[in-house]
Amino acid sequence: MIFNERMKLYTLGNISKLPQYDKLSDEMKEGLKVVGSVLPFRVNNYVTENLIDWDNVETDPIFRLTFMDKKMLSEDQYNKMKSALDAEMSSPADIKAVANEVRQELNPHPAGQLEANVPKLDNEPVPGLQHKYRETALIFPSQGQQCHSYCTFCFRWPQFIGDASLKFATDQAKTFVKYLREHKEITDVLITGGDPMIMNSKALALYIEPLLEEGMEHIQNIRIGSKSLSYWPSKFVNDADAENILGLFRKVVDSGKHLAFMAHLNHWREITTETAHVAIKNIRATGAQIRTQSPIIKHINDDADVWARMWKEQVRLGLIPYYMFVERDTGPQHYFGLSLERALTIYQDAIRQVSGLARTVRGPSMSAHPGKVCIEGITEINGEKAFMLNMLQARNPEIVKAPFFAKYNPDAEWLGDLEPAFAEKFPFDL
Ligand SMILES: *Cc1c(COP(=O)(O)O)cnc(C)c1O
Ligand code: SF4
Repeated sequence: MIFNERMKLYTLGNISKLPQYDKLSDEMKEGLKVVGSVLPFRVNNYVTENLIDWDNVETDPIFRLTFMDKKMLSEDQYNKMKSALDAEMSSPADIKAVANEVRQELNPHPAGQLEANVPKLDNEPVPGLQHKYRETALIFPSQGQQCHSYCTFCFRWPQFIGDASLKFATDQAKTFVKYLREHKEITDVLITGGDPMIMNSKALALYIEPLLEEGMEHIQNIRIGSKSLSYWPSKFVNDADAENILGLFRKVVDSGKHLAFMAHLNHWREITTETAHVAIKNIRATGAQIRTQSPIIKHINDDADVWARMWKEQVRLGLIPYYMFVERDTGPQHYFGLSLERALTIYQDAIRQVSGLARTVRGPSMSAHPGKVCIEGITEINGEKAFMLNMLQARNPEIVKAPFFAKYNPDAEWLGDLEPAFAEKFPFDL
């Protein structure tokens, strides 16, 4: 059945109106309220009505993906936030102050995401642009710094604020266009967020149409990173604006450029609905290609069979599996994180179950400061166990695809936990 309702958003303010709210235990309701006061909570009626199995909420992956769990905070943080909410004397300002304290503890670089790798034009930073790897520039449209629902594991939460006015967007569009015109080494533009597909066709066109103009011949590929196939597929099916969105996609393809829709999908469940199937069909019919990516996250998809089934399903539907990421520390690392060894084992167990068409997916990969570091395997050389690593992307293009090693460490969860093996330094430290 095609989902055909208007969007209803649930936040902490109205969550008790959710028809399935009573499926939550009192403890879950409390956890949601306390953790949701620290991290952003938002879920819409497509997700609640189509993707969550309400009879198994305790273990449901999509419930875990969108509803916060008590254990996402440490006991101290949880109790501190809960006392602030419970205290009769607390003013909204008091509550906010405590929430901010906990946020600081959770994310040591709250603003870092948008400010890192910002390029300069005439000695001024270009707002909303990131240029880290030579051939690809990222655009963060000011109006795309939101999503149709929020993922509990998301590292971008500090970014879901800011100036979302059309005026700012227009100014922003002007500067990035100038930067892109001057940088002929850039072949790919990746429009990201939040979720850029939160924008209507008019706002999205502000970012896409300039890329099709004269002087932009070096821009060959336009990517849009989005979770809308899972969180609001109506965008491409029966929203009032759906035809305009698809028309804009067609325009890119007709201009002779490649449009890559980078779908963020964490679990096969997300692509089981008829609405998602029609959305996929409609996007592909424009000539756009859909590639997929996801981090591996405890409680949501830390299971090889889940990945194998997801990749098989994606290939059958015409999607191309592209990346498996290691989740970076987003704050609740103790809750979502898993060791590099475990991530590798899951990747290997999953990839061994699928045919070559799904083995286009690379990973597990860490998007770290020097670049994208892929864990290729665990091996033994002269009796010493080691991680075999490889740069999928690097600030320094010279070291892309150069293999290197790190000492085996079963507890390592991120690049910073690793030390070089058989060499003094890692290639990016040379
Ligand atoms: C992953 C990423 C890209 C794209 O890299 P590809 O290997 O071309 O997919 C570009 N910029 C940043 C900052 C990235 O993290
Ligand atoms: S859709 Fe993407 S940006 Fe939005 S909350 Fe989820 S992970 Fe974060």
